[in-house]
Amino acid sequence: MFQSLEFPKEALIGKGWRSLPRRFPVVSPATGEAVVEVADCGSEEAAEALEEAVAAQRAWSQATAYERAGVLRRWHDLILAHEEPLARLMALEMGKPLKEARGEVRYAAGFVEWYAEEAKRVYGETLPSQFPHKRILVRYEPVGPVYGITPWNFPAAMVTRKVAPALAAGNSFVLKPAEESPLTALYLARLFLEAGGPPGVFQVLPTSDPEALSRPFLEDERVRKLTFTGSTPVGLKLYGEAAKTLKRVSLELGGGAPVLVFADADLERAVAETVRAKFRNVGQSCVAANLILVEEPVAEAFAEAYAERVKALKVGDPLLEETDIGPLVNRAALEKVEGHVQDALARGASLVAGGEAKGLYFAPTVLLDVRPGSRIFREETFGPVAPIATFQNEEEAVARANALPSGLAAYLFTRNLSRAFRVAEALDYGIVGVNDGVPSTPQAPFGGVRRSGLGREGGRWGLEEYLEVKYISLGL
Ligand code: NAD
Repeated sequence: MFQSLEFPKEALIGKGWRSLPRRFPVVSPATGEAVVEVADCGSEEAAEALEEAVAAQRAWSQATAYERAGVLRRWHDLILAHEEPLARLMALEMGKPLKEARGEVRYAAGFVEWYAEEAKRVYGETLPSQFPHKRILVRYEPVGPVYGITPWNFPAAMVTRKVAPALAAGNSFVLKPAEESPLTALYLARLFLEAGGPPGVFQVLPTSDPEALSRPFLEDERVRKLTFTGSTPVGLKLYGEAAKTLKRVSLELGGGAPVLVFADADLERAVAETVRAKFRNVGQSCVAANLILVEEPVAEAFAEAYAERVKALKVGDPLLEETDIGPLVNRAALEKVEGHVQDALARGASLVAGGEAKGLYFAPTVLLDVRPGSRIFREETFGPVAPIATFQNEEEAVARANALPSGLAAYLFTRNLSRAFRVAEALDYGIVGVNDGVPSTPQAPFGGVRRSGLGREGGRWGLEEYLEVKYISLGL
């Protein structure tokens, strides 16, 4: 069915699509076969895109907010109209099960809709002066041009969550998508042009060499903002590089979320939500549950019901309607998952579901009695493995959650309102889901503290990341 589907495979630079003799393969993790060869951009294309971005920024920042909002609104409508090909493209290039991929397209479109609306609400301010002949004005101006780097795990939503607010604020944007998933990004760019987006405002440069491609953007003084979503080690490196030209920086980095299930929780709901929080996108989500802590009196009942649900998840071809669990993205991902399971078992955990691999498919797995110190508790697994351990009281649960290195998302389940507030406030995380396993939504601030990064995406906070403040002092 994909043979008949047309999708862009070239780079989008300046005025249009650029076919390059250098290409790299996009490999389907489900079949191991190359889907297509994509244009492989290098420093020459980067230098050209950079000049185009600088030129496009000038015109786009002078377009009215209503014009920018109009383009974003039309882009949103086209993304929704192309839900099916976009979902299939994601299933093909990075193995996301089709029904989840459709949900991601709607989620991705939601950011474009939200920022189409917000584009018109970038208000300035006037402040009272202590002098009668002075006026104090504050304006918000676009910070850019912007250079953005996205990961493969949400190939559509991680793009729109950055590009839509940046464009709404009047910036041009050069995107470097992940090597594993450039096709979804290119398809989104085609829809942007169809929506009447001016050439040069949004450019997409696929590459097999992210470091070399990024260098000109990081080194150039005129690129005023870097936005990155990906792993903490790469984020740290880029933070250092961007510091040399003092760029504004947003970093959405690794997670590894704790889940605290208290004995007073609605257990059925806690089980259902924690299955979603763990197994969405085959566990390859930055807000995925990584450590499930259950209060001792309900631990056995929770684990039994949890394992039951996990065993019912359907593993299979991501392009099939019924599939819940597709393949992992590549061999390195599979090896990490296997390593975490073996380490936990060697330290005394017991396996109650899954545990076996076939190709890049890893069966949804539940481990009980996982011992503190196990790798799976210290590192982001990024795969379909749920480790369950117990705790004795609230203080211990919060302390164990806050001892983890990342601070992106945490979850807690309780029916006690006082406890819900107390624990949510005590957790040292950027996002807390209370009786909710999927808190991400376009209007809310998404982002982490500690080793999970800097800045927020979504809502008005996501727009502020792309705005500079100008103060005008006016003497009458
Ligand atoms: P990664 O850091 O390996 O790659 C992310 C992106 O960075 C890719 O586009 C890659 O090409 C690029 N990159 C890699 N090395 C680079 C370099 N030296 N210079 C410039 N660019 C470089 O991460 P990944 O494995 O693709 O993604 C998974 C990670 O992303 C996980 O840790 C996950 O938690 C995190 N993530 C975070 C969020 C969030 O919002 N906090 C969202 C999704 C994923």
